[in-house]
Order: sequence, then C-alpha cells, then structure tokens
Amino acid sequence: MMYLTKRMIEIRNLLQKIGQSSTVTLPSIVVIGSQSSGKSSVLEAIVGHEFLPKGSNMITRRPIELTLVNDPEARVDYGEFPDLGLSRVTDFSLIQKTLTELNQSVPESQCVTDDPIRLTIHSPRIPDLSLIDLPGYIQVAGENQPRELKRKISELCDKYIRGPNIILAISAADTDLANSTALQASRRVDPRGERTIGVITKMDLVEPEKGAAILNDRQYPLRLGYVGVISKLPPQTGLFRRETGNLLASISRNEKSFFNTHPSQFGPESGVSTGTMTLRKKLLQILEQQMSSKLQETTDAIQRELEETTYQFKVQYNEQPMSAEAYLAASLDDFKHQFHEFTANFGRAQLNSLLKDALDQKVLDQLAARYWNRPIEDLSVAPPERDSIADLPNADPNSPYWHRQLDTASSALTRLGVGRLAATVAASAVQSNIDKLLNKSAFAKHPSARKVISEAASTVLADRSYATSDGIEISLKPYKFDPDIQPNEWAKGREHVVGVLQGELDQCQAAMKSLENSVGGKRKLKEVMSFVDKARKGEVIVEGDHPSGAGGFSAALLARGREAVFLRDRADIINMRIMAAKSRKCKSLENKYYCPEVFLDAVATKLAQTAVLFLNVEMLNDFYVRFPREVEAKLHEHMSAGGLERFAREDPKVRRHLDLIHRKELLELVLAKIEDLHRFGAGTSGGSGGA
Ligand code: GDP
Repeated sequence: MMYLTKRMIEIRNLLQKIGQSSTVTLPSIVVIGSQSSGKSSVLEAIVGHEFLPKGSNMITRRPIELTLVNDPEARVDYGEFPDLGLSRVTDFSLIQKTLTELNQSVPESQCVTDDPIRLTIHSPRIPDLSLIDLPGYIQVAGENQPRELKRKISELCDKYIRGPNIILAISAADTDLANSTALQASRRVDPRGERTIGVITKMDLVEPEKGAAILNDRQYPLRLGYVGVISKLPPQTGLFRRETGNLLASISRNEKSFFNTHPSQFGPESGVSTGTMTLRKKLLQILEQQMSSKLQETTDAIQRELEETTYQFKVQYNEQPMSAEAYLAASLDDFKHQFHEFTANFGRAQLNSLLKDALDQKVLDQLAARYWNRPIEDLSVAPPERDSIADLPNADPNSPYWHRQLDTASSALTRLGVGRLAATVAASAVQSNIDKLLNKSAFAKHPSARKVISEAASTVLADRSYATSDGIEISLKPYKFDPDIQPNEWAKGREHVVGVLQGELDQCQAAMKSLENSVGGKRKLKEVMSFVDKARKGEVIVEGDHPSGAGGFSAALLARGREAVFLRDRADIINMRIMAAKSRKCKSLENKYYCPEVFLDAVATKLAQTAVLFLNVEMLNDFYVRFPREVEAKLHEHMSAGGLERFAREDPKVRRHLDLIHRKELLELVLAKIEDLHRFGAGTSGGSGGA
C-alpha cells in the first residue's frame, strides 16, 4: 500500500523533465479556500512545519507545487527547490523566506501567474503526497488590490481544479457553508462531489453542535466526505508546548483533547471525521486510489507519446544516435581533417611568397625615401648632391653619391627587423587561415568554443614568435654586411621588380581615379592640378594654407590637387623606372648603382628565402605539431562542468536531435517503471523486497 503514489510521483518528476510538451498529467491534490479560511495552517499541519508565506498583506501570487517525499533515510526534514538548484534546505524559515521572495517576484500589475513554484519536502514523518497550494479566493477586492485580481485568482484556480486532480476545499466553521467560495468552485467542476474533500477549519471557534452539524451537512454532499480540524495551536501552555519539527504532533494532541471532550458530537458513534491526522490519512488513501484508477490511462498516454517520439526519431533522424560527446568528437575530427589539408598546402613556398610581398613593400619604401621622393630639380642642393633620379641613367659610374645611396638603402632593408616582420607575417597568415577554417567548420555555430580554438592558435604562435624572430636575425647577419648578390639572383630580381613597380603604378592610377571622382571629374582635378603646378613654379602666389583656399579653389580642393600632383609625379617616376629596369643597362649586375630597384629586390628575395628556412622549422612545423594538442587540451577544459552539453545544444539542429533522444529515453524509462507498477499491482512482482 501507498507504494503507488510514491512511484507515480517519481514518474511525474521524470515527466516534468520532458517539459511542457508532455501531455501526460498525473493527479495531485489542489488546495483551495478563501483568504483566511485557514488554508495555510492546514497545509503546514499536514507537513508538520511552518513554511508558507505569512503576513496580512501577503497574497499568494503563484501556485506552489508541493511534493512530499516519505524518506526513511532522512535524518532531518529538508526542502528542495529543484528549479532554483537549491537542495537540502533544513531551515524551514529559509524555505518560508524563499517562497515569500518568489511570490513577491510577480509584479503587482500581473496580479497572479500560473508559473508554479516547485518545492519538495523530504521527511521520514510525512506521507508521499503531491499537493498544490493555490492563491486564496478573495471575497471583496481591497483598496490596494487591482480589480481584476479577484477574477484572475478565480481563473487560475479553475485551471487547476480540473480532473484528475482532487480538490481539497477549505472552509472555516465560523462562516456560513453556503458562502464557501471553495465549495462553490468545486461544485462548478465536480457537481457530483466525486473528487472533492471538504475540510472545515476552526472547529474550536463554534459550538460543538454547530460544528458537528456542518460535518454532517447534507446540502453539499461530498462522496469523499468532510473532515473537521483545528489547525491552530492554543496560546502556548506547558501542555502543548511546540516542539520543533513536530507541529503535527502538537496539533493532533490539541485536536484530540478538544474532540474527545465532546464525545456525543465527535465520538466514534457520531459518524463524523475529525483531526488533521485523519485528514492526512484520507488524503493519502484517496490520492493512491486516484493514481491507481488513472494508472491504465497514464500508461496508455505514455505509450502513445513514446510511439510518437519513436516515429519522429525514425522519420526525422533515421534513428541516428546522437550525444554531446559524439557531436564534439565529430566536429573536432572534421576540423582536424580540414587543418590537415591546410598543413599540406601551406609550407615554405607559401610563407616565402607572403614574406616577399611584405618585403616588396619595404623595398618600395626605401626606393621612395632614397630615390623617388627627391625633387626632380632641387636647385637648393649643391652638386654633386643635386643628382636627381632623373640623372641616374646618365650618372657617373663612380659617383660616390649613388654608391652611398644604394648601400644605405640595402643596409636599411637588411636591418629593418626582418626577423620580427617574418614572424609576424607568418603568425598572422596562419592565424587568419585557422580563423577561416573555423568559419567553415561546425565550430562557427559555437562562438565560445570557436574562441577557445582561435586563442589556442594565438597562444602556440606567440610562444614561438620571439625565438623565431631572434633566430632569423642571427641567420641574416652575413647579409647585413654583404648581400652578395649572384648574377642569376639579379636576373630574377629584374624580372620580379618590374611586376612590383607595375603594381605600384596601378595603385597610383587607381588613387588618381578616386581623387577625380571625389572632386567631381577629371577636368576639375586637372584645373586644380595646374593651379598647384603654377604655384610651385611661383607663377601664382599662394600664401600658406589659407583656410579659405586660393585661386578660387577651396582649401580642401587644393589639398586634393596637391595629392594628385604628387601621384602624377610618382607615376611618372615609376614609369621611368620601369623603363630603366627593362633597359639593357639594368641587365647586368655590374650596373647595380643605376638599377637600385633590381638590386633591392634581389636582396629582399635573399632575405625572404633565408628567413623562411628558419620560419618553416621553428614556427610552422612546431605549430603543426602542437596546435592540435593545444586545441584538445583547451577544449577539454572548456567542456568541463556542463560545458559539453551547453556546447552541443548551441546548435539548434543538434539541440532538437538531443531533445528528441532525451525525451525518448525518459519515456522508455517511465514506461518501464509504470509496467513494473502494473506487475506489482497484479501481485506478480518477482521479490518481496521490491516495495
Ligand atoms: P489562509 O489565509 O487561508 O491561508 O489562512 P491562515 O492559515 O493564514 O489562517 C488565517 C487565520 O486563522 C490565522 O490567524 C490562523 O492562525 C487562524 N486559524 C487557522 N486555523 C485555525 C483554527 O483551526 N482555529 C483557530 N482558532 N484559528 C485558526
């Protein structure tokens, strides 16, 4: 006996994990009554603890789903709030405080909500029961209570008092039963009084004859009957001193002494039921009966739900298993595979071309600084310093000026910190490739895991960066003194630099085009440019950078004009230098002073090649070995403490798949449990220790 309710409550808890979508409902006892009818006192007496929110202004705004668990193992009574993750709260005043706070969290404008507070209480002294405490009916809305509060409470109660729930209708003995809101509500949904238990509180406040008459009421007959209780202890006396955790014992003693003093009204012959203990036993029996009568129906509902879930699993997922672990493993495998492909296609050659591109820019910078940006005819500089880039093709081969220019440019190139540049170029290329791989991978849908992997890459790269750049600098040392260019290197440089210059020329032209667009056309730009040219030659006078401009052009327009003139001159020079590089003179290494572009390109190539040898071994290969391990370790860390499940569920597709499997597993478990119950009910249980 009483085994069924316990198991069914367990089953209900499992079903709750499936969530709202489950259509299976198991009977509970719902407690209704008007305000101050003594509803809370009855519930507390049944539980044996004071734990419900109190206070004159306290209106219950949320249902409390109270599960009582008979737990012979529990040394002390305790409560749990599963939704808050609060477990083993042994201080019932803390439970009361928590309930009060949860209750107050409902904004007054909302009046009441049907979002229940779930509370489980464990004790060796309580029966297994599932009770729902609802807000008390209010008779007349108070001054500060919104008008619709009354209606909303009534609607909320109506929702809960539907079958198969059992209604515990609380009415006070000192008010007319005809006015009992609880009984009126119960009549609406249970007109034949089949699943309502009447509880008459405050039996001590009326004459015994009147009390007995209420319990014998024939006007509102209930099949499950009425029970009269006194749930309030008299002012403390030595006799009824309240012992902690034993509220029910004190209440029972008090009730007994009251009812026993009136044997003709309440004695065994009277045919009326009294006392909280009697009520508790009654609740237990009725709930057990209700559970038992709903067993087949519940089983059928669960079976149907399981069939539907199994069907969905088949049609949607072809019965493919899925777990968070498997999903992570598959995502990681796939990523590693992509990474492996990347490593096969990204090596020395790719590093070399990236580094050479970066060095090409440095070469252009040196050329500009040492050669191109010098004014074509800078008359303020005395000869031989006056030599300009325009003179270069006809320069004296022994001119110390041009020798110095080339040596300085070449030395600046070798000393610009190629080690750092190479390490940075390589690291950022690898990093951006990893990020691209991540974007294409399953991790794209998981920002935090994606970040972990991306950071693992930066960590490993940063780790080697310092040593790599140092190593490169050492290996480049000889070139800092003598680049030692060979004829074949010269030939390659000549070929390559023409392309670089052409690229630079294209960029100049593109910049020019965008300047044209920004001033409103080619003609306009030409006009400004010619004004700037004239100003440079002193043909017109422009006094400084006058904010209002000059020559009818605004200051902003003049600035664009100057930029355009600069671009035009640069393009002229580059064109000229492309011709020079292609000329016969630049064919030979002997004429290197005439062809700084070719020489610097050849030096840059040499630097890149040497740096890359080191880079490849020290940084890239090291990364290829260490990165996958680092990813595994960092992901492992990230996935601990529930992280794995969170990770998998971030992907909506995976979440749906996991949910369905979870639902199916839970339903299978529930079905197995319920089938056990059938066997137990049929007396075919295998062992006697099963209960
Ligand atoms: P609720 O608003 O329906 O939850 O009612 P409470 O349980 O808070 O009770 C309202 C008031 O009635 C409180 O002051 C209780 O102490 C008192 N009360 C409850 N039950 C009894 C009882 O059986 N006898 C007496 N004399 N007072 C009671």
